[in-house]
Amino acid sequence: MSNLKIRPINTGFVTTVPKEYLYHHSVVDYIPNIPDERIEMPVFTFLVEGGDKLLLIDTGMAPTDRASTYHHPSSRQPEGMAIHEQLECIGYHPQDIDIIVFTHLHWDHVFQIERFVNADLYVHKREFKFAFDPIPLYFKSYEHPALGITRPFEGMKFIQISGETEIMPGVRAYESFGHSPGHMSVEVETGEGSYICVGDSIFQLHNINPVPEMHYEITPPGRFYNIIETWDSIVSQKARVKDSSYILCTHEPSLIDRIEKTPLIG
Ligand SMILES: [Zn+2]
Repeated sequence: MSNLKIRPINTGFVTTVPKEYLYHHSVVDYIPNIPDERIEMPVFTFLVEGGDKLLLIDTGMAPTDRASTYHHPSSRQPEGMAIHEQLECIGYHPQDIDIIVFTHLHWDHVFQIERFVNADLYVHKREFKFAFDPIPLYFKSYEHPALGITRPFEGMKFIQISGETEIMPGVRAYESFGHSPGHMSVEVETGEGSYICVGDSIFQLHNINPVPEMHYEITPPGRFYNIIETWDSIVSQKARVKDSSYILCTHEPSLIDRIEKTPLIG
């Protein structure tokens, strides 16, 4: 068992319509109090400290202008919340990061990547391929040049992986497809046990709840690339941990309060 620690870092807020994005249309009638209006969700990255190498999971979202113009309206990155700015606040520089594992290459997970000049960049080979040649439905997600902008990850050298891969002692990346073609999650061994950083494969913790009226063992989301892979990823990851406190989602709102009390998890 390693003694790694996980530091969640929120890089801003994206907005979304819960009934379109977070809940599959087949479940909305069975879940009370889903808001009809657009809500804000955080955009967490995860710094893994205490190992031989300093490892980051995702690099987070874009500045407000970019986020709000090309993506979800009213998304925002308040002053000082970009990943490099927050690393500086806790005494690190982007060049100190040795490894970055990307859960996937959507715009809100890859910004500022060019600042991490010393990092080995890991991505699933299926994600890499699709990110450079998506169907037009995903042009915005990957910031395709057809929009007149440059992809944040253009020209970057990635190490492409598949299956389950030990990235460094105590850190394993594994496949959790469905939200995107080559989505990966990252398991981190800490003194408290293994946590999983699940990116968007489980949008929010409510997505692991059963919906008995529909005979569903989970609550499927409304936005996905492949619903069968999405479903299987949620079921298998739910079984992988002791309880939901070991699941760290990129867009989980309750994590904001949790890190007030516990900035370092594990
Ligand atoms: Zn996301």
